[in-house]
Amino acid sequence: MTTTKTRMGMEAEISSDWTGEPAILEGAIVIGAGAAGLAAAYALIEAGVATEILEREGRLAEPWHHRHENLHLNTHRDLSTLPGVSFPKGTPAFPHRSAVIRLFNDFAQTHRLPIAFGVVVDEIEFRGDHWLLKTSTGPRAARHVVIATGRDRQPFIPAWKGMKDFSGKIVHSAHFGRASDYAGKKVLVVGAGNSGFDALNHLSGVETGQMWLSARNGPSLLPKRIGKIAVHRFSPVMASLPARLADAVMAATQRLVFGDLGKYGLPPAPSGGASRLGSDYTAIAADDGAVDAIKAGRIIVVPQVKEFRHDGVVLESGQSIAPDTVIAATGYRTGLETMVGRLGVLDAKGVPLFNGPANDPKLPGLWFTGMRPSIRGCFANARIQGAAIAGRIAKQRR
Ligand SMILES: Cc1cc2nc3c(=O)[nH]c(=O)nc-3n(C[C@H](O)[C@H](O)[C@H](O)COP(=O)(O)OP(=O)(O)OC[C@H]3O[C@@H](n4cnc5c(N)ncnc54)[C@H](O)[C@@H]3O)c2cc1C
Repeated sequence: MTTTKTRMGMEAEISSDWTGEPAILEGAIVIGAGAAGLAAAYALIEAGVATEILEREGRLAEPWHHRHENLHLNTHRDLSTLPGVSFPKGTPAFPHRSAVIRLFNDFAQTHRLPIAFGVVVDEIEFRGDHWLLKTSTGPRAARHVVIATGRDRQPFIPAWKGMKDFSGKIVHSAHFGRASDYAGKKVLVVGAGNSGFDALNHLSGVETGQMWLSARNGPSLLPKRIGKIAVHRFSPVMASLPARLADAVMAATQRLVFGDLGKYGLPPAPSGGASRLGSDYTAIAADDGAVDAIKAGRIIVVPQVKEFRHDGVVLESGQSIAPDTVIAATGYRTGLETMVGRLGVLDAKGVPLFNGPANDPKLPGLWFTGMRPSIRGCFANARIQGAAIAGRIAKQRR
């Protein structure tokens, strides 16, 4: 037996019918209670669609509980809220991850969102006019399913030759730990994206040994602040510009603030920051000290990793370096292959081909949210995508 919620706050019970097939929920099941799933569920309920949320963990914001202890958002407080809730007075401009955990809980409580915790959705199947979900607590069915399981679900490390024999440590940026743990250590950070710069920003405040940054491309990089102004505050304006214009504004800002980073081994990004969000899903990196450390020679930019040896790392240039620890800031995968792999809706990297209000006409009722990075950040994007999906579902039901 399960309950769903409608806008009127009424709770509708859905029970299995006598054949053993689950009754079909005449509404939507949202998979995942992160920012994207919560915002979508809220919008659906507001639009009068009976909705249920399935969350594999036993509490909200599990990914944020595990992020490193000093993690603060790169996105501004006022632009990182969910509908009807905001951060309490006194929250810094870039909230600590603990404030995000509180925000999620406030949001779910304020709107009394119907979340079934501890339910893992393993696979979904299209049944012509509805979706069957195979879950850890038995099958469920609904006319619509909104997949909001996160685009940074599984840390990804490339299979570098020789990495198993390396005598040092290799950690993914998801398991960065505390910056102080790296004191006195020689550290190689691989990847000049958002996570790579987050690690370097924190490491640049610690007395480490030599640091290296291995960069495949120049980054799309913006400062976290210019003077006292949080750069993310401009994100709504940037998001409203055509991508090429936003690319040009970002490139000009990067050049103006940091000067020519090519002198330090970081060429301009191969394509603009806004364009890359859509083409290779690379988020814009935020600098908060790393560039100063690069300019001071504390961080040396080096070419791509070719292979590992027992005592070091060989770079594409043939040069060898000997870090104690390698931080692989090499991205994440959605891990959606088991759940939806057979439906042909994922690209080669496992990213859904459709996101937000766009969907596959051959698979009506299947929606994805939170699967692309955005200039606005994940919270504002969650609201926009959630509202758009709810609008389309509500329209189809009329
Ligand atoms: C280090 C780091 C820093 C970041 N900083 C920022 C920032 O400053 N600003 C910003 O806007 N974004 C930031 N992001 C990005 C942001 O965290 C993610 O894009 C965002 O959390 C995605 O939200 P989501 O709801 O899509 O996914 P998630 O937060 O990952 O939520 C997905 C939910 O789905 C559940 N789930 C997964 N699989 C299943 C299943 N099979 N069955 C049931 N439930 C399931 C999970 O348990 C989880 O609760 C950061 C990311 C990282 C890694």
